[in-house]
Parts: sequence; C-alpha cells; structure tokens
Amino acid sequence: PTRTSADLIRAEEPVLAHNYHPLPVVVASAEGAWVQDVEGRRYLDMLAGYSALNFGHRHPLLIEAAHRQLDRLTLTSRAFHNDRLAEFAERLAELTGLDMVLPMNTGAEAVESGIKVARKWAYEVKGVPADRATIVVAAENFHGRTTTIVSFSTDETARAGFGPFTPGFRIVPYNDLAALEAAVDETTAAVLIEPIQGEAGVVIPDDGYLAGVRELTRRRNCLFIADEIQSGLGRTGRTLAVEHEGVVPDVLLLGKALGGGIVPVSAVVARREVLSVLRPGEHGSTFGGNPLAAAVGTAVVELLETGEFQRRATELGAVLRDGLTGLVGKGVVGFRARGLWAGVDVDPALGTGREVSERLMRKGVLVKDTHGSTIRLAPPLTITGEELASALATLESVLTRD
Ligand code: PLP
Repeated sequence: PTRTSADLIRAEEPVLAHNYHPLPVVVASAEGAWVQDVEGRRYLDMLAGYSALNFGHRHPLLIEAAHRQLDRLTLTSRAFHNDRLAEFAERLAELTGLDMVLPMNTGAEAVESGIKVARKWAYEVKGVPADRATIVVAAENFHGRTTTIVSFSTDETARAGFGPFTPGFRIVPYNDLAALEAAVDETTAAVLIEPIQGEAGVVIPDDGYLAGVRELTRRRNCLFIADEIQSGLGRTGRTLAVEHEGVVPDVLLLGKALGGGIVPVSAVVARREVLSVLRPGEHGSTFGGNPLAAAVGTAVVELLETGEFQRRATELGAVLRDGLTGLVGKGVVGFRARGLWAGVDVDPALGTGREVSERLMRKGVLVKDTHGSTIRLAPPLTITGEELASALATLESVLTRD
C-alpha cells in the first residue's frame, strides 16, 4: 500500500537526523513553479529550493541536457579529462567576466575553496607571513555549514556545540565601510561578503556599499570575494547581484541554481592571478567538474546568456514590490526586495514566520520563514504574472484576520 503524507512524515522521525524542521508537506512531483504532494494537492513553490530552482522545476532544456549526458557519460573524476568541462568553464568565465573556474559541488564547498585560494594568494602573491592570513566577513552572514564556515557565523544556533573553530576571521557589521576599513590590515587576504544577505532576511546594503568594498579591497591589496550562491544567476534581475553597482569581484562563489535544480554544482570563479595559485594535488573533489554537472551547468549558462530570466526577475520583481507595498500596514510591517526576491516582515501579532508559512501552505503556497516573523519569497523566475499575483493574494488573505 502506498504511504500517505502523514505516514511518510512519521516514518522520517526515527531514521532521519532532526537538523531541519520542514513544513508538513510531502512533495512527490513538480513542474515549473508548481509542486504536487503525495495526495495530489498542488502548491505554488514560492521558495524555489532557496533559489536553486531559479529556472523552475524540471526546465525542459535542462532536463534534456541532463538526459543527453546521462546516456553518454556521468563521471570520470578529475584523474582524467572529460569532454564537457572545458566548455562549461569557458562559458561560465565569459558569463561572469572572470578568467578561471574551480568546479565544486555544494555551496559550502565553494566557500571553503574560496577561503583556501584566498589564503594561498595572500602567502604567495601578497606576501603575508605563513599562517597569519585573515579574512574579513560580515555579521549575520550565511555561507554554509562546515566547521570553518560556522567558525565565522554570528548565529549561535549554527555554532553551539561545534567548536573548536577555525581561526583567522574578523567579523564586522554588514553595510559598514568604515568598520571594514578598520578591520583590514597587512594580514588581510580577502573580504568575503554576500552582496545581499539572503538567510539574514534578504538584507540589501546601501547603494555604494559594494562599490565601496571593491574600491577598498583594491586600494588595500586584498581580494573581494562575493558569495553569490543565493543572490546570483538571475535572481535579482541581473546575472550577478554585484552588477547592480557595476562591480566585478576578484573571486565569485556560485552554487544553487548553477546545478539547475538537478545536480549539485558549485564553482569558484576568479581572476587568473588568484586561481593560478592552485597546483596539482593541492585541492580537489571527486565529483567536482563531473560531466553530468558540467552538461547541466553549461545548459544553465546558456539559459542565462539569453537574458530572459534576468528580464523576468526585473519585470515580475516590480509586480512583487507593488504587491508587497500594498500589504504594508495590512499585516506586513516592512519588506526588502530586489528582483524576484523579498524578505517580508509580518506583524508578530499575526503569528511567527513559521505560523504564517503553515497558513500559506494550507492555502497552496509554499514559503519558508527565516528569523522570527520574516518570510522569504523567491519563486522560480519562470513564474507567470498571474501565478505571482495569486500568491500575493493568498498572502494577503492569511494576513487578514477573519
Ligand atoms: N552561501 C550562501 C550565500 C548561501 O545562501 C548558502 C545556502 O543557503 C550557502 C553559501 C551554502 O550552500 P550549500 O547549502 O549548497 O552548502
């Protein structure tokens, strides 16, 4: 007998680590902006896998690229070359305006790899004394879950019980150039920031901050590492969020949507001077750069080359912004939005972000809360204007007490 959603949720309890608290919906199939649960109920996906599904569920061109590759070659390891990797790297470098690519799998791995590369650059190129390199990061950051990355998190839940931590990080307030200036010194390898802080609640820095970070890092001879794992690849209306300030970082970290919602694909993309510090044997990954990942990643780059998704994010982003503006004072106390991405602070009197998310789920709209009473909206960039309007109407209905 097939198991119901309730059966499956109950079945997870004793056998799955409890490191997540999912909404009680069990998804069994999906297409575009819609998912369907075990009982056949349909939901509009307004989270899009934390932006890993920027192109929607099972985008036909991505599925086709994956199928084609599945039938030819899936894995070689980097012990050998494969015939898909060169094109992926060429086109990703071209898309981002940078020179070289280090392919990895998950976002956290890209961040870890970026940290290693920056440290090595500091010793070999900048001349920082051995083991003295520092990296300056922002408070309220989210860069992933590995031991080194949580070492510089300011979220106690992410850190407690996981020490001892990796040294060599300095934490400054986000969106504060003076604090950044004060924290950088001759040991500084890099400044690592999210151009928009996603997990913090879609926190957008003031205009001029990213350009300021670019100017400062250039002047003080350290690298600008932009973690665009969540903000990148179309979400904000540009290929990269740093483009809103016309800035090119030294090192770009990409993940999530780079794998088209099909396979984990991440990358460190950087200037030649930076990634050239890696030599054979010094870093690697069994799955990084595998031909299936490269084929899907190339198809993702092709989609972005059309500009269609960036345009949709801009146009639909205006609809999202208008809709949310209309809800301010009607259950919404404030919001931050760029492109098709918003952090919405709901009136705490109406419930926690979790409670609002559950009410939305019962009405067929899937979102996820971040902190306290903030919910995040990040639908697939393929969502239609009507679908977006209906999601906003549903949000309005759950924020109106009846
Ligand atoms: N960096 C940013 C900005 C993220 O938003 C995330 C994930 O939410 C990560 C890194 C970590 O990515 P992953 O979960 O694939 O390790």
